[in-house]
Amino acid sequence: MNSSTSITPYTSDALVGHHVGGQRIAGSSGRTQAVYNPASGAVARQVALASTDEVNDAVRIARASAREWGDMPPIRRARVMNRFLQLMNEQRDTLAAIITAEHGKVFADAQGEVSRGIDIIEFACGIPQLLKGAFTDQVSTGMDNWTLRQPLGVVAGITPFNFPCMVPCWMFPIAIAAGNSFILKPSERDPSAALFMADLLTEAGLPAGVFNVIQGDKTAVDALLEHPDVKAISFVGSTPIAQYIQEGAARHGKRAQSLGGAKNHMVVMPDADPEQVVDALMGAAYGSAGERCMAISVAVLVGAIGDQVVALLAQRARLLKVGDGMDGSAEMGPLVTREAKLRVEGYVDSGVAEGATLVVDGRQFTVAGCEDGFFTGPTLFDHVTADMRIYREEIFGPVLSCVRVASFDEAVALVNAHEFANGVACYTNDGHTAREFARHIEVGMVGINVPLPVPMAWHGFGGWKRSNFGDTCAYGEDGVRFYTRQKSVMQRWPNGIRTGADFAMPVSK
Ligand code: NAD
Repeated sequence: MNSSTSITPYTSDALVGHHVGGQRIAGSSGRTQAVYNPASGAVARQVALASTDEVNDAVRIARASAREWGDMPPIRRARVMNRFLQLMNEQRDTLAAIITAEHGKVFADAQGEVSRGIDIIEFACGIPQLLKGAFTDQVSTGMDNWTLRQPLGVVAGITPFNFPCMVPCWMFPIAIAAGNSFILKPSERDPSAALFMADLLTEAGLPAGVFNVIQGDKTAVDALLEHPDVKAISFVGSTPIAQYIQEGAARHGKRAQSLGGAKNHMVVMPDADPEQVVDALMGAAYGSAGERCMAISVAVLVGAIGDQVVALLAQRARLLKVGDGMDGSAEMGPLVTREAKLRVEGYVDSGVAEGATLVVDGRQFTVAGCEDGFFTGPTLFDHVTADMRIYREEIFGPVLSCVRVASFDEAVALVNAHEFANGVACYTNDGHTAREFARHIEVGMVGINVPLPVPMAWHGFGGWKRSNFGDTCAYGEDGVRFYTRQKSVMQRWPNGIRTGADFAMPVSK
């Protein structure tokens, strides 16, 4: 049993509204959507879905707050972040319970998510150092040049269901610390974590209107995308919507970072330790029911180690404890919605139809006492080939596909041919193989004997190819650059000396 047994589950049935101008607003669009408890399958509450007018109001309020907040000395903004950091640490378990209640992931995993979000807040507390400009004395006689970074004004974040705390924290702490106002449009499937963080920001002393939450769907997203006062959009979600955001932002003349879907491989070399490999695959494939953009969904088994790894995986998958995320003994919770369960099980049907070997079948899986929950069991396929849908497409569920290859070169070529390139891992005991892998693999985040290589707060997170549109990483120094723009100032005080008109291109004199 872990510490979750002493935590009260989150059970509010109140309408989940917006947070605008420091206040909770019920919403006036007349549109709402059900939010489920994925473990019981029951509707837990409703979430408001904003209209275009409500988004426009939020942008107006955010804009009105941005000037004063952006003018505040960075160290004072950092102090607000520091207070927020402290409150997030104090409220970590309450927030984790909210996440489990709406997402379904096991409580210990939700605690981990909150911790990884807190890392970014901690990074944002260093904003005075991060915003420190560059100065060159005497670029020309009597003239200096310096560069500084200024906030953009109003910026927005649109986030996915699978990390309702961590992914927003990739964005707003840095954006706000850098002096912007922020509008968060969380996933409508698990909208409560965003409001909880909004309350903590208010308690930390953030001025009203600097952080706003707008609940909603495509209507709200399109209103943010099209609004001329929203200067930048950070998006994390599926690839088709990421591409839509990137293209829409370009059309509307705003910067965007748009992180998309994934199909992450783990290459297992014949010299790897099979027990370590299986431990890593179990957690990385089935943790969070596979609903992680860094989940390993393909094991590329090189040569003779394949039979042993598949046999061990099958044993372990059959023993995996699946249950309500608030049950301290559960290792994997339900999927987020009934549609997600049907989609994932539809992929299992298609894998069987396309000729993959179904070693462990997670369909028809029920949890005693939670018969209507959105559970599917861990599924293991062997002898998957690159032309199958279960290999090509993102399943986003607890389905691990094993592909057999004969050599390291074949494994690298397979990974590099995939359209997604978010994360990848290689398990080996050979330093040269590891080095070659890290150098030649065409993927943004690489783990050597590390199954989920999610970079730390100051390194930045970003895949390649159709896993990430735009050219910056989320968070890290790229985050600071994304939420600010450079200004370069050249200054001279001529002290009464006239140099006359100069018609040639100015050069250093
Ligand atoms: P999603 O694309 O369905 O939704 C993401 C956001 O976009 C939500 O806020 C949603 O309301 C909005 N949205 C959905 N449909 C829209 C539409 N037609 N027009 C405008 N906005 C729309 O993604 P999801 O199901 O919430 O999250 C899972 C996906 O996110 C997976 O593909 C996963 O790989 C990806 N993801 C990627 C990363 C990464 O860092 N690359 C991280 C987490 C999740």
